[in-house]
Amino acid sequence: MGRTSSAPATCEVVWSRILNSMVTRLGICLALAVGLYGQSVPRIEDIRGKAVLLFTPHPDDDAFCCGGTLARLVQQGNTVRVVIYTNDDKGSYDPEMTSERLARIRKAEEEEGNRVIGIPKENLIWLGHHDGMLEYVDSRRLVEQATEVIRRYRPDIVMTVDPGADSVRWHKSDHRMAAMNTLDAIRAAEWHLYFPNHKLQLGLEPWRVPAYLFFYVLEKDANLYVDIEPVLEKKLEAGLAHVSQFEPGVHKYSPTWTPADKSKARAELEGMILRRNGRHVEAFRWATDFNQF
Ligand SMILES: [Zn+2]
Repeated sequence: MGRTSSAPATCEVVWSRILNSMVTRLGICLALAVGLYGQSVPRIEDIRGKAVLLFTPHPDDDAFCCGGTLARLVQQGNTVRVVIYTNDDKGSYDPEMTSERLARIRKAEEEEGNRVIGIPKENLIWLGHHDGMLEYVDSRRLVEQATEVIRRYRPDIVMTVDPGADSVRWHKSDHRMAAMNTLDAIRAAEWHLYFPNHKLQLGLEPWRVPAYLFFYVLEKDANLYVDIEPVLEKKLEAGLAHVSQFEPGVHKYSPTWTPADKSKARAELEGMILRRNGRHVEAFRWATDFNQF
């Protein structure tokens, strides 16, 4: 139905309406900007006593992207858990290697890397999908798996691959899928009508995740840099636990380093770490859901 009557509006009234509408819209835009881009980006050093849940595509991305930050979070009394989407059972040129053996090796490396950082193996949650195949897993099953983990551990912060600040980003396939699936699970986790079996069968309540910390960000999108200089050795040691990810292990696996190979891999790893003002840093995009963190 349309309006039945309206008195002719004076210029003053019209301008007042326009102004009110502009102020309201500006307010909404500002609220959205604060909510989505987190003007109140915290310092990692100030985060204590929180539950952090990191979703990693493979059992090495967590050390490479965020090993220093995770070490700092653990030192500050936060509880960090790592969810590993795939078992990384494909990336080897060694003709003697099998998928089953590689999965076992990568699991042991991930446990060792996280031990160095201070995350016990009880805090590692393996979803067990095959390397490179995450996009071909039943998508409903995958989002339900991640939703269940979120509802079980009720994290204050979820960390995952950056899906892109203003558009979908190109990533290698498992990374792309980990980014999108984790976001879909965050959305599902807060609504009780998604996967009601979680409450009925497992006693898990819905959970709204207050904050997201995205890694593997483009430099233009990064809004949080963590100074990892104090924990640099931990980051490097955690990275070097992944012996099979470096040469010569990629072509011919051996569980132990020669000193020469180790120092070469260490230099390679250190060269991959971002530097700002002469300090080693890790870059992130912090985003919150309407600043509830
Ligand atoms: Zn990866």
